[in-house]
This record gives sequence, C-alpha cells and structure tokens, in this order.
Amino acid sequence: MTDALSHALGKPARESKFWNAHIETMPRAQLDALQLQRLQKLVRYAYERSPFYRRKFDSVGLKPADIRSLEDFKHKVPLTDKSEFIDQQLDAPPYGPTAALPDDFIVHHCETSGSTGKPLAIPYSMYDTVRYGESWACGYWALGIRPSDTFYFAFGWGNFAGFWSAYWGARRLGCRVISGGGLDTKGHVQAIMRMRPTVLISTPTFALRMAAVAAEMGVDVAASSIKFTYHAGEPGPTALPAMRRQIEQAWDARAGELLGIAEVDAFAPSCPNGDGVHVNELDNFTWSIDPQTLQEVGDGEIGENVITSFSNTAQPLLNYRSHDLVRRRSGCSCGRTWVKFEGSVLGRTDFMVTVRGTNVYQTAVEHLIGQIPEVSHSYELVLTREDDNDVMTIRFEPVKALANDRAAWSALERRLSDHIHQSLHVRLKTVAVPPESLPRYELKTKRIIDQRPKDFRRALDR
Ligand SMILES: [Zn+2]
Repeated sequence: MTDALSHALGKPARESKFWNAHIETMPRAQLDALQLQRLQKLVRYAYERSPFYRRKFDSVGLKPADIRSLEDFKHKVPLTDKSEFIDQQLDAPPYGPTAALPDDFIVHHCETSGSTGKPLAIPYSMYDTVRYGESWACGYWALGIRPSDTFYFAFGWGNFAGFWSAYWGARRLGCRVISGGGLDTKGHVQAIMRMRPTVLISTPTFALRMAAVAAEMGVDVAASSIKFTYHAGEPGPTALPAMRRQIEQAWDARAGELLGIAEVDAFAPSCPNGDGVHVNELDNFTWSIDPQTLQEVGDGEIGENVITSFSNTAQPLLNYRSHDLVRRRSGCSCGRTWVKFEGSVLGRTDFMVTVRGTNVYQTAVEHLIGQIPEVSHSYELVLTREDDNDVMTIRFEPVKALANDRAAWSALERRLSDHIHQSLHVRLKTVAVPPESLPRYELKTKRIIDQRPKDFRRALDR
C-alpha cells in the first residue's frame, strides 16, 4: 500500500517512523505560520467566549485584531498561571468565568492534585479529549508501538488527567486496552502474566515496584509479554537516565514517557532517541522566559516554559506559566522539526519532588509549617531514596519555650505530619531537632538537603 493510500484510509504505513510525518517534520517557517493562524483564532475565541479572558484583555486594552505576529502574541497577551485560574474558579465552582463552553459540551472532568494548595478543576470537551490523545499516539508510534499492541494500565482511575489522556491516545491508535483498575501490585503482575499485554502504562516508580514485587513472587517480568513501557506523572526515563536503565533492564522493554500539564495538554512525547521530549507543535505553542525578569530566553538556554495549547477549548490557557525549567533545542537526529526539551523538565522554579505519586512543592510545605505556631520558621527538607521511591523528611525546630519538653516535640512531629497529610494527601516524615540548631539560610533552595543518588535527581537539582 502506498503511503498516500494508507494515510487516506487513516492508517499510517506501519513502517513509517512517524505517526503524522507531514506535521512532525514540517519546516519551521510553515510551523510558525500555522501556529500564528491558530493563535489568532484562539485569542478571538477566548475573548468572545470566556468572561475571564474578556476582562483580562480589556484590562490591558488588547483586541484580538492586535495579534499580527508570534512576537505580538508573546508580548501582548498577558502571562497567566495556575493560581489565577484557581482564584477565579473558587468564586463560582467548578469552572467559573474561565470556561469558554457551556456545561453541555463538557464530557470529562479532571483535577490537579492540589499539591500547591487548592486543586484546579479541568473541563474537557470531546474535541479536547481527542487532541490530548494525539500527542500520546505520536509518542507511542515513535517508540515502535503499533495498533496490534495491547495496553495494560496499572493505574486506579482517579481524576488525574495523565493516564486518562494516555488512554485516549491508545484509543486513537486503535489498540486493545486492559485496565488494571484497583488491583494491588501482586494483582497487576498476575493480570499481566495472564492477559499478555505488550505495553505497560504506569508511573516510572510503579513499573520498578511491580518488577520488584514480581521477583518476590518468583516471576521474571523481563520474560513477560511486555515489550514497551510508557510513563507519565513523575520524572521518567528521559529526565533520569538511571530510571531508564532500571526499567528497561527489569522489563526487557523500551521505555518512553510523555510530559504533560493536566490543565494544558499532554503535549510532549519522548524522542525515540531518548535524550528529550518533543513538543507537539500542531497543538501547542511554547516559548521560554527567565522566571525572574520575564524576558524571553533563546534556544539552548534554560528558561521557564510558557505554553499555549489549542487542545483545551473548554478552558483555554494562553501564555500559561508552567514553572517548569527547560532547555529548548530545534532540530533533532530523529528527523522531527518539533522543538525538543533536552532532558525533559530540568527542574522547577518552585522546588518540587514527587513522593508516592504526589507532587510536593517546597512552597506548599513551607506554608503548612508556618501554620503551626509552636514551630519555628527554620526547616530543612531531606530527600532520600528508599525502595525505589523518593522520601522527604522534614527537620523542624519547636519554639524555644519547648526546648526541654521532649513529649511536646513528639506531639509536634505527629501534628505536623497530620497537618501535611490532610492538606497534601501524602505522609511525610517529620523530625524535631533542638530549637535554633538548624542553620539560618538566605536562599530557600539551600534548605533542600538532597541525598538521593545523583542519577535520581533532575539535571538542575543535581
Ligand atoms: Zn527527536
């Protein structure tokens, strides 16, 4: 079958390296022109349909017709971020004035984990779910996954967008899907051995956990039917080469990952060459800024990724600050023209570590410590790695008045741990140390004592 004919039938030639060669290898100038058209349309759409954007644009005197170039878009459309959306939604839950479509058009609802505070509600239209799946389909295809493959989802179907969109991508590819649902780790291993799927979808740490539990059960997952593993939700095989080695060895499989932002898009599948993720530029426009000065930074420099997606018609996000630090590169040995983030996300403008699947931000922890009056504002976060998981221990000081009251220290350890658990839904270790024994740091980042092996830290955190 010729390529043209197979495309006409909606089935890209099995041998092609690309899911959509036309878009994935489009010359830069053409991509720019396409993105400008789509941005102009999006600005008009947001202005006409979303009361939030209407107000925001009016406040700076911006009219949709003012956007005549990519530079206009970058510099005239105000930056926004998660907290602004959450504030709007709190006034009129669940979506408030940020929604651009009537309720009838919303077919799916997800939420962010709330790890920085209140969760952000995310509405999806049917179109949005299809587009969220598209980047996954590109990534699956690039790794070698084909419609004849069978997916196994080792994931409890909560409100986390990452794996829902992975599922939309598997549907887009036309693969069989098996859900592991609420099984325990052993149950997942048994289900994989029984149903013989070829693709495993999970967080990277859970893939390692499953391999370890399987070994205890006397099962060698390297000899299982799994040929590919694909990951999201935590720094994965692209950001952490050690993670790739461990997963690929344990499962005797090729590992891929996708970088997404739940409220924006599943937007950057990993390059099959393994050294970065490619932004799906059909559906997303990205650029980088210096997080302090907000000035644009160029290719090859580290900056904060600012993203605009064409995939969220239900709640558009324009010039959205991701707080992810990335290094952009154009051109890649794999042949894709889509911009690449070398090493995926290199760090956060706000330090973040994923503990048992929950993103824990330094600012969130600091905020919660500050809410307990018997605890001083000095603290240290100690990061270690135990049983293939990142562990965070908070070292804190009781106030001076409690210096000799050890019973009160233990009570405070429990209270702080409970307080964090209630708010962030994750249990962190808490250790009281004598009042005024911790160093007084000027810089917030110095409060992080990272004792994880280097290979398990993101580039900027090393
Ligand atoms: Zn590439």
